[in-house]
Amino acid sequence: MKVLVVGGGGREHALCWKLKRSSSVSEVVCAPGNPGIARDARCIQVGAEDIEGLMRLAESEQPRLVVIGPEAPLVAGLADRLRAAGFAVFGPDQAAAELEGSKSFSKQLMADAGVPTARFEVHTQAELAELTIREWGAPIVIKASGLAAGKGVIVARDVEEAVDAAHDMLAGNTFGSAGSQVVIEECLVGEEASCLFIVSGDTILPLDSSQDHKALLDGDQGPNTGGMGAYSPAPCVTPDVAEMVLEQIARPTIAKLAERGIEFIGTLYAGVMLTSEGPKTLEFNVRFGDPECQPLMSRLRSDLGEILLAAAERRLDGVSLDWDPRPALCVVVASKGYPGSFEKGQVIGGLDAVEASGTTVFHAGTSERDGQIVNSGGRVLGVTALDSSVAAAQKTVYAALEKLDWPDGVYRTDIGYRAVAREQN
Ligand code: AMP
Repeated sequence: MKVLVVGGGGREHALCWKLKRSSSVSEVVCAPGNPGIARDARCIQVGAEDIEGLMRLAESEQPRLVVIGPEAPLVAGLADRLRAAGFAVFGPDQAAAELEGSKSFSKQLMADAGVPTARFEVHTQAELAELTIREWGAPIVIKASGLAAGKGVIVARDVEEAVDAAHDMLAGNTFGSAGSQVVIEECLVGEEASCLFIVSGDTILPLDSSQDHKALLDGDQGPNTGGMGAYSPAPCVTPDVAEMVLEQIARPTIAKLAERGIEFIGTLYAGVMLTSEGPKTLEFNVRFGDPECQPLMSRLRSDLGEILLAAAERRLDGVSLDWDPRPALCVVVASKGYPGSFEKGQVIGGLDAVEASGTTVFHAGTSERDGQIVNSGGRVLGVTALDSSVAAAQKTVYAALEKLDWPDGVYRTDIGYRAVAREQN
């Protein structure tokens, strides 16, 4: 079958890479894609948020399945439009995408469904938000309710920082309309993990666990980013923890949506904190994590095209997943300056040598200029390896990165450190 993938980042490269290797798939088309994706798919220059352009593309390409990678088109209702036009779509409708598009909706739904999560209040007025912050004290978490590319969360160490963040968000200074509602949350303590599920109506198929590293710098220091690296599986997600996340978080959330007449077809991503009281939900996303998708796709042995089509056609029941037992680890190479401003158009050399050293290089923020690969986004590459242990995969990736010829490319040097420490114990 022909599959159309929407998006052009590292996650979509991993999806296209895996779809191309699926025997059910004869052709992968990607909009807009990137130069790395172009090795695995036919790329067409239609933006991932250009809903009308994507509708026209789907009409002309007539794919058997459309897979929507990023959250923005989901929240904008692309899946609804495609389904109404008769396409099989992997990705939730707008109403279900609110789980990610609105943190206030998502927290309220969790409260109604009895899903474990941090205590919270939603505010639209800075004075009232400030009262709550002063009453609860620090540390405390302030979140812009709307989409903010993974950057709308402030974990405030003191009350004044939290008050300032809430005032800035509500004044529209930091995240525009995404900050017109803020969620104030109790600060949870523990290890974080990413638990993803392929969902089709009331069938929920767990993926193997993963863990990402959101902070920019080694030792989880520095500002939060979209993600600087990830690995799978995450040893902290024991079979017991996985069962709890499925039964206490994923199932009641999907059931509560269904009760409200909202069907979910797509990936449900639960970011969880493993607290001393059990797993608690930090957030929901409605798509694969980026960079978690890169190690997950590296480990998945099943035919991805078949699974996503079965989910899109509401016949996921009875489907199971086959995983390579070996861990996979992905290190993100970013442009110097990210998540702030950075220079674009720098030539990136050595990519073939990096891959020849036992890795797969997934492209995110790259473009092509005069036959050369240049950086065009904040997160640029996801260098990924599968190996006998997390420590071995880590070693392979970092040795390969020695071959990268891009002086301004920056990356953390400790991706996977928690799992490596566990392996050594
Ligand atoms: P989110 O986008 O909601 O997952 O938040 C981004 C990051 O902020 C998470 O991965 C956590 O590291 C941190 N975070 C979010 N909510 C909380 C919380 N209630 N307590 C502690 N840390 C949090």
